[in-house]
Amino acid sequence: MARVVVISFTDDAAAEQFCIQLHNIQEAEEPMLPEAYDLGAIAAAHGIVEALIAKPTLSCPHPFRNGTFKKTEVFGWYVHATKANGRPCFRPHPLVVQNFINNMLIASGNNLLPALLDKMRNGSTTSPVDPSNED
Ligand SMILES: [Zn+2]
Repeated sequence: MARVVVISFTDDAAAEQFCIQLHNIQEAEEPMLPEAYDLGAIAAAHGIVEALIAKPTLSCPHPFRNGTFKKTEVFGWYVHATKANGRPCFRPHPLVVQNFINNMLIASGNNLLPALLDKMRNGSTTSPVDPSNED
């Protein structure tokens, strides 16, 4: 199991800088300590932790032709509840695990990170989303 942290930023530029800097630090071949300190400063100055979400990482390996599912109390995931090899595995369907973040984002529909990373790779310094162009 993993965790997803949702952080909102009071400043759009700070949010984008946080994403770019984290991406660059993780992609770097050498340690980037000053940038890592800046990252913490950006989060502390502009970030608000909105949610801490459990993310499944293990999925059910069983075929689902005759399976039943049960909703877990703590996380609200539908897990395989049919006994296989003597006991239920209590793991979500593989597609739930594989598409967890996309399924989360469908509800809000506004993941700006792919556009930001594309802009960064193309060398642009402007925001990926201009609010004046929104429909
Ligand atoms: Zn299973």
